Amino acid sequence: MSHEPEAYLDDSQMLTDESTFCFSCTPEKKCFTRCCYDINLVLMPYDILMLKNHLGMNSGEFLKKYTSVHVGFGSGLPVVTLKMEGPYLKCPFLEEGKGCTVYDARPGACRTYPLARMAKRSKEKEGVEEFYYIVREPDCKGFKDCKEWTVKEWKENEGIEPYNEMNDIFGELLQAKTESNIEHLTADQIEIFYMGCYDIDSFRQSFLEGPTLERYMEDPEVIERISKDEKELLKYGMRWVKKKLFEGGCLACGSACSTNG
Ligand code: SF4
Ligand code: SF4
Repeated sequence: MSHEPEAYLDDSQMLTDESTFCFSCTPEKKCFTRCCYDINLVLMPYDILMLKNHLGMNSGEFLKKYTSVHVGFGSGLPVVTLKMEGPYLKCPFLEEGKGCTVYDARPGACRTYPLARMAKRSKEKEGVEEFYYIVREPDCKGFKDCKEWTVKEWKENEGIEPYNEMNDIFGELLQAKTESNIEHLTADQIEIFYMGCYDIDSFRQSFLEGPTLERYMEDPEVIERISKDEKELLKYGMRWVKKKLFEGGCLACGSACSTNG
């Protein structure tokens, strides 16, 4: 049965940027690539954008070929997970003897391991307060013969910051859902969420190329920015979903709009 890395989370020690931990993952370790089997790998919006571009696919093709979607029991929101392959539930991007074939675009969770990031928001303070826990997978030999890192060094080494930045915007959306007290979304609302957060090429087509009034109401500079930069488009898509579903309006006019898209 696929396991959740959180099951091995060591919450006895809360780590911040200057905290140190010891870890080393190299191809010589006996466990090499074992962690790429039988995992429940939830993909965040930015993971999907990076992977589909790395593979030269559009988001719709990528989602269909490599992922499964379900509505989260607790959140009531669509959750995208990577479809594992074969009887041993291998990650589709793992090539035996070679390792990760999408290394430069690997998901944020693969980069962050053996750490797990917790992001705390409060109404009193702007932004996000983050801290980390260590995840001690029992079969992982990375904690033996290891190298010392600070959390900050690990984040830099693994290129985690852009993922955290985008995940925090997604987190704002999840928080807006909680604060709205809306428990269940309709099928149409689930589609809006899915498109704005996960299927970015469909969002582009619908919002930037389709006949939607919302685009005409938006600042032309914003439209130019999101047309040229896909990461900006994804940020916009997530905020568009937040406003539309949980704050009762469209992003451009800030009030209730009855447009499609
Ligand atoms: S050391 Fe841990 S993270 Fe590295 S390959 Fe082995 S199980 Fe995976
Ligand atoms: S994306 Fe790469 S690192 Fe992550 S589970 Fe798959 S093969 Fe392993």
